[in-house]
Amino acid sequence: MEHLFENLNRIKTSLSKGISLVAVSKTKTAEAIKVLYDAGHRSFGENKAQELCSKYEVLPKDIEWHFIGHLQTNKVKYIAPVVKLIHSVDSLKLLSEINRQAQKNSKTIDCLLQFYIASEETKFGLDLQEARDLLNSEEFKNMSHVRMCGVMGMASFTDDTNIIHAEFAHLRQIFSELKNTFFHSMDFFKEISMGMTDDYQIAIEEGSTIIRVGSAIFGERT
Ligand SMILES: *Cc1c(COP(=O)(O)O)cnc(C)c1O
Repeated sequence: MEHLFENLNRIKTSLSKGISLVAVSKTKTAEAIKVLYDAGHRSFGENKAQELCSKYEVLPKDIEWHFIGHLQTNKVKYIAPVVKLIHSVDSLKLLSEINRQAQKNSKTIDCLLQFYIASEETKFGLDLQEARDLLNSEEFKNMSHVRMCGVMGMASFTDDTNIIHAEFAHLRQIFSELKNTFFHSMDFFKEISMGMTDDYQIAIEEGSTIIRVGSAIFGERT
């Protein structure tokens, strides 16, 4: 499994300072994660609560677990004790439950708002107005155990790089507007999580600060 480290390193060394890499390990084994852990990598991404928890159990406890998939409210309690950053907040109801579970665990959970930027019907996420409503709500203002750190989005699955550029540019624009309106003096609101195996180079050109890469590191998922 040495090639895993080579794959990771090839991507890591190509990144400029300030861009971080989440190795998306969904469907891959704990052994594969351990190879990269032993080589010094600490950030891994999962999209299922149960899978994240089973891997947490058997792996070193200083791994930073990123939750990147659609999160059901009733699953928050499982990941709350162990998660580092939830990329996929797409409703006030979900965020309230994250806040509640974070409080129970005496911690603050870092979150990103997921935006719907693709032209496909299947992707989850907010639009700008929904995000404004969420951030303006009294309920959000009273949440003491979540910290909103930025935005996340997925581009359309297409070979047309113009479309991908435009969608990522749109997400960066959303980030800037929210930064200016709601988080101006808050240094922690700084993340734009965008870019996967097929489009992370474009995402970086458009201002990504976190890329989430799976297949280019671990190989194709079956
Ligand atoms: C699976 C997944 C990724 C990684 O996809 P690859 O194409 O394998 O790099 C990134 N982000 C999310 C939200 C995912 O579900």
